[in-house]
Amino acid sequence: MSLHSLRGFRDLLPPDSALFTSIEAAAREVFALYGYQELRVPTIELKELFVKATGDTTDIVEKEMYAFTDGGGREVAVRPEGTPGVVRAYIENNLGQTGRNGKYFYIGNMFRAERPQAGRYREFEQIGAEQIGNASPYADAETITMLVRLLEKAGVSGCSVVLNSLGCGECRKAYRETLLNYLRLNTATLCEPCKGRIERNPMRALDCKIDGPVLAEKAPRLSLCPACAGHFSRTQELLNISGVEYQVNTSLVRGLDYYTSTVFEVRSSALGSQDAVCGGGRYDDLVKSMGGPAAAAIGWAVGVDRMAMLLKDKPAAENAPKTFIVAAAKEAGTKAFALLTAMRAAGISSDFSNFELSLKSQMRSADKSGAAFALIIGEDELKAGTVAVKLLKEKGEQLSVAIADAPSEISKRLSA
Ligand SMILES: [Zn+2]
Ligand SMILES: [Zn+2]
Repeated sequence: MSLHSLRGFRDLLPPDSALFTSIEAAAREVFALYGYQELRVPTIELKELFVKATGDTTDIVEKEMYAFTDGGGREVAVRPEGTPGVVRAYIENNLGQTGRNGKYFYIGNMFRAERPQAGRYREFEQIGAEQIGNASPYADAETITMLVRLLEKAGVSGCSVVLNSLGCGECRKAYRETLLNYLRLNTATLCEPCKGRIERNPMRALDCKIDGPVLAEKAPRLSLCPACAGHFSRTQELLNISGVEYQVNTSLVRGLDYYTSTVFEVRSSALGSQDAVCGGGRYDDLVKSMGGPAAAAIGWAVGVDRMAMLLKDKPAAENAPKTFIVAAAKEAGTKAFALLTAMRAAGISSDFSNFELSLKSQMRSADKSGAAFALIIGEDELKAGTVAVKLLKEKGEQLSVAIADAPSEISKRLSA
């Protein structure tokens, strides 16, 4: 039997891995600009955390969660999304009292046992942000603006936001009944899972991929209470100030049980369809319902694969070495290795293949490496205490420098 990766899992190879790294770097830069700090939470948690937080009527929990019983008989799950762990950590570590500003980001792998399909994996990376403890529309406008800037910084072009408000518990109470009555009258047309869950969560039907589009036109609309309406219009005013392009769409419902008030999705002209790149929303009741203090919150998550797909045609970050060291004679190995060490100590990325191989083979590797210079030490150079510097990418004369001067000489040429 040959060993292979599991179905739905993949290896992330160079240069795709470099693309992922550059997306993460862009995200970290933007998070720093907005005062967000990194929160790293465990990959495995009690299964109950996700059932309670993500919601037992969501597809994620109903069908896609990697859950199992561990050696100690505990029901655990590898995280399908980031928010529940962050909320648990917030409560468990009393971050409402001890934290700086309630703004956290995470970059990590998530797991969902989806049926494998093109471009979707069972282990995937998400970048997410959560702001806990700020109920004002300023938080909404800030976090949405940050998401758009982050996508732009990473290179995703033509971003615009689709916005809606799902209201608070108060506005939802009346709406729940109206919607439920409407759905009960139309049960015959609903898909099987929705038939089974409308009593528990009627709004899920609006978000259902099968029923949502059918219901979108005729389903009764939520009317916001004065507080929610004020919050929503202020959020829009603030987005105008931050210069984010947006559109209100009252049929936007996000597929998680915990969303309240503002919900949003970002679309990119690069996708050329109505598909969202990512999204998020407020979850003002979640922290309290998980046993924490009353703390309004808002967050979003973006799949790094999805971003990478949009950036695929752009050149990956250049991570070729600056110099490639070659030993053109067997006895030159020691000096070549010392030079390699000195170049790296001087902060100049350098590589080599194998100083015991032929000159021809080492030069082939040098060309393949993408380095700007080959530094060659042969018999003549050994005698003279020099190194031959050869331009790899363009034709030019080979020059000779004293071996001790090589790091500073190359530095000078690289910055020129
Ligand atoms: Zn309300
Ligand atoms: Zn359905």
